[in-house]
Amino acid sequence: MSEACNNQCSECNEDCSEREPSEFLEKPHELSDIKKTIGVVSGKGGVGKTLVTAMLAVSMQRAGVSTAILDADVTGPSVPKAFGIKEKASNSEMGIFPVKSKTGIRIMSSNLLLENETDPLIWRGPVIAGVVKQFWTDVIWGEVDYLFVDLPPGTGDVPLTVFQSIPLDGIVIVASPQELVNMIVEKAVNMAEMMQIPILGLVENMSYFICPDCGGKHTIFGESHIEDIAMQHNINLVCKIPIDPRLSSATDKGCIELFENDSLDALVQLLINKGEE
Ligand code: ADP
Repeated sequence: MSEACNNQCSECNEDCSEREPSEFLEKPHELSDIKKTIGVVSGKGGVGKTLVTAMLAVSMQRAGVSTAILDADVTGPSVPKAFGIKEKASNSEMGIFPVKSKTGIRIMSSNLLLENETDPLIWRGPVIAGVVKQFWTDVIWGEVDYLFVDLPPGTGDVPLTVFQSIPLDGIVIVASPQELVNMIVEKAVNMAEMMQIPILGLVENMSYFICPDCGGKHTIFGESHIEDIAMQHNINLVCKIPIDPRLSSATDKGCIELFENDSLDALVQLLINKGEE
């Protein structure tokens, strides 16, 4: 807190701990009408955050709820690839238009702005955070029931800025069984709690593998502790996704929209119910 604090946050620009989180929230584009915004977060990269974001958007779109994905993982954008999107985003004087997937899911990602999708983005944190903010303020999302934000992994500068600038109605935390036994996932939970954003569910990805030969269930990355962690943090909903080579193949080939899987059904139903509240 500033020594000169007079408790009038609106008159002050200090980035201090006493400030209300809502002070930093940005307004969406005036032509966007987004009913609910859900962040998908993970403690580290490569645990399936993008996969879960894509599966949630696909399942809800299938259920007749209009969905969109804001790929906030600016330096590791993999949403367009999972949907097989090759075209680039277009823009007008009014703003930027997201690209629509085959089933009509609106997608915005840094990859849709680069000439070559293999070009690296050598930007520092504040620039990356600025791009994410622009995906919220300058993209014309139109009417969307559920916008899913695929956040950058971890609890660093960029995810924190996203948490502060985009008004999230809730978050979903994705972790592997290994992360659930150490503190990585706790950090994500604590960040959400500090930002006062409800945690809607905890997803354990790569939870187990069903052997196609013997039919046995193998916990490749160790026994699950997801229920204990969920209980510790009063998270009422847990989902488990198995290791499934068909999933990696679907994301590699860009046809995640064709994949059917019931692992996230409980979470999808919760979101559908929330949307109807
Ligand atoms: P993150 O967004 O957390 O970095 P991704 O969703 O991009 O991770 O997943 C990393 C890779 O692992 C992708 O190639 C994805 O297809 C694969 N993958 C993720 N979850 C599974 C799973 N349950 N079964 C098989 N492959 C998976």
